[in-house]
Amino acid sequence: MRFASLGSGSRGNATLISQGKTTLLVDCGFSARETEKRLQGFGLDASELSAIVVTHEHADHVNGVRVLARKYQLPVYATAGTAGCMSADLVELITEFSCHDVFEIGDIEVHPFPVPHDAREPSQFVFTNGQHRLGLLTDVGTVTPVIEQALSQCDALLLEANHDIDMLDNGDYPDHLKYRVAGRLGHLNNVQSATLLEKIDTTHLQHIVAMHLSEKNNSPDIVSPLFAQALQCEQSWISIAKQDTGFDWRETING
Ligand SMILES: [Zn+2]
Ligand SMILES: [Zn+2]
Repeated sequence: MRFASLGSGSRGNATLISQGKTTLLVDCGFSARETEKRLQGFGLDASELSAIVVTHEHADHVNGVRVLARKYQLPVYATAGTAGCMSADLVELITEFSCHDVFEIGDIEVHPFPVPHDAREPSQFVFTNGQHRLGLLTDVGTVTPVIEQALSQCDALLLEANHDIDMLDNGDYPDHLKYRVAGRLGHLNNVQSATLLEKIDTTHLQHIVAMHLSEKNNSPDIVSPLFAQALQCEQSWISIAKQDTGFDWRETING
């Protein structure tokens, strides 16, 4: 399974998952034009996408979904709650899924799971090709047993490390935004994510990428050592997805 990110953070998110003839775009938080441009950087034309899978309706995840899906007639997968927040002229392209049921898109099996976040019916995913498991978790305020179970024994993990608590506390966000971000329906701080890594089975892990870092309230220099400590690995093995460039194609391989 191959995967890449077009960009990750509060100014837009979009992740590519590719297996065989199937390429999924998970979220499309950039404008359609910007997404087309970034896709070209990864050697892809938007017409080659198999589908857009949406985690939740926040703008940094759906900004370009409507225009891109309509222009290229791409199927859009979303929960009923997320779909209910989408534009009416997207209805014919939407396939609703349940957070509790596995579904297939071409060569990729999608295992959704529900997450606590301040959206209508947010979902995150494990993608499998029958051999490897790729877990994606961003936009989550609290780690639940369901999340721990879903992300155990993954071969690749794309894991939110949104903020450092002290940087958020001392930063210049207004109080209501600080409470939102740090709250139980907000975003994972670095320690929450590192604790999750310590707790789950990471014996199969080939790739770890920290996602959705706050540009104001976090730094790779804080995330990398924390994640390395949690995984008992070299810091150089920890990757960080960037807002402007995401990260380049990676691939899970047979061990
Ligand atoms: Zn987000
Ligand atoms: Zn969100």
